[in-house]
Amino acid sequence: ATPTAVMVGTGIGASQGVLIKGGQALESAHKVNCIVFDKTGTLTVGKPVVVKTTLLKSMALRDFYELVAAAEMNSEHPLAKAIVEYAKKISEDEEGHVWPEARDFESITGYGVKALVRNKEIIVGNKSLILNQNIAFPVDGELMLAETEAMAQTGILVSIDREVTGILAISDPLKPGAREVISVLKCMKVRSIMVTGDNWGTANSIAKEVGIETVIAEAKPDQKAEKVKELQATGFKVAMVGDGINDSPALVAADVGMAIGAGTDIAIEAADIVLMKSNLEDVITAIDLSRKTFSRIG
Ligand code: ADP
Ligand code: MG
Repeated sequence: ATPTAVMVGTGIGASQGVLIKGGQALESAHKVNCIVFDKTGTLTVGKPVVVKTTLLKSMALRDFYELVAAAEMNSEHPLAKAIVEYAKKISEDEEGHVWPEARDFESITGYGVKALVRNKEIIVGNKSLILNQNIAFPVDGELMLAETEAMAQTGILVSIDREVTGILAISDPLKPGAREVISVLKCMKVRSIMVTGDNWGTANSIAKEVGIETVIAEAKPDQKAEKVKELQATGFKVAMVGDGINDSPALVAADVGMAIGAGTDIAIEAADIVLMKSNLEDVITAIDLSRKTFSRIG
């Protein structure tokens, strides 16, 4: 392609909300034959909502959520925001509700949070966190988690003073059109893979809904990047699509990093291409544009 063709291609991208950071990014995109997608906020809407609460001990729902929200208030995680939002509704005074004070707050990345609220030790997070903290996992918990995960929801456990007291089901639906994007990519001979920090059960359910066969769950940020490198080592030209801080290493490692426009600044900086409208369809727009600019056919 001539420099003029590259300029034209980049210009067309920009006019469609696909920000291509330079000629190299535009060129690399036409060779892509494998895309690694982050789940939360990339394939899914990224605005999780609490859809169900199961209390395992007798306790007022309002009191339960006071403790949980006080702990999660201090976390930036989308799940924490969903929990606090829901707690506001339960408290029935959404305006300026003051949560109890949380002391010794600790955020355990990839697992959840821990804090002291009203002199009780509150732990909110996934099953691994509960097990790591040597808290007994309730017998019927396993079944409840399995049911939640089969519905493509994330199950979050709440331990109060070292006893699992509640299980929350949190739903984050697929973006509209996500399934179609994966299916069009397949026709374009591009393989799709999903990586997520979420648990295997939920990840597999979401993958099935969207039509992705290869899944890596419970992945830490460096494992996302490792997966990209592993695919490159086996000969794939890899694009990574993500929105979070934890996707940044993988966005950098990929042949083409694509950030969701609504994502975090760190992801946007790490990427080669930014999908300004946050539409998954624009993954196809970017590859198409590159193919049209750089291949003789088409
Ligand atoms: P991702 O953003 O890809 O879901 P994370 O590594 O951020 O991955 O989180 C992985 C998992 O850790 C979440 O799915 C959840 O189970 C748990 N987790 C993380 N932060 C929190 C939190 N603040 N409250 C409850 N659970 C959390
Ligand atoms: Mg994400």
